[in-house]
Amino acid sequence: MERLKDFIRDIPDFPKSGIVFKDISPLLEDHAALDSAIESLCLPYKGQTIDAVLGIEARGFIFGPLVAQKLQAGFVPLRKPGKLPAETFSVNYELEYGTSQLHMHKNALASQARVLIIDDVIATGGTAQAGINLVEQANASVVGLAFLIEISFLKGRDALNGYNVHTVINF
Ligand code: AMP
Repeated sequence: MERLKDFIRDIPDFPKSGIVFKDISPLLEDHAALDSAIESLCLPYKGQTIDAVLGIEARGFIFGPLVAQKLQAGFVPLRKPGKLPAETFSVNYELEYGTSQLHMHKNALASQARVLIIDDVIATGGTAQAGINLVEQANASVVGLAFLIEISFLKGRDALNGYNVHTVINF
């Protein structure tokens, strides 16, 4: 996947000093790269029963629906507080500085639904763990978690021990 790596742009000190932001914009702008990224994200899950693909706000909303369409599954957004209009499950989680909250509509998943969680980047894995927590509150089951980019030195994969984790580009 060296070629896809060429479509990820490093933006130093964004959104704050010391963070190197992995910008996916060049990849989104290129039809062949976007197509290849979606194909690679889906690869381990083709032929498996996936009832719903969950995308994490905000960039999981870009890849999630494209993956859902390919896997013939529905799409469910996991959103920041105050965005979803109906009753929600919620979870608090740690960010590098402070905490945040993620919500999912209570009626979004059938009990026992088989779910794939999608995001652009896995860093520490905290956001993905919050996603897992929401799925489990709904008594549904996490088949896997797929990310376009893995920032390996932050060891997010270790935080998701026991779950199927698939990543396409490794930094
Ligand atoms: P974490 O919870 O630490 O795994 O962080 C993952 C979430 O933060 C994802 O939703 C990413 O979109 C975002 N994120 C974390 N670090 C970066 C980074 N270096 N570049 C772009 N997005 C990032």
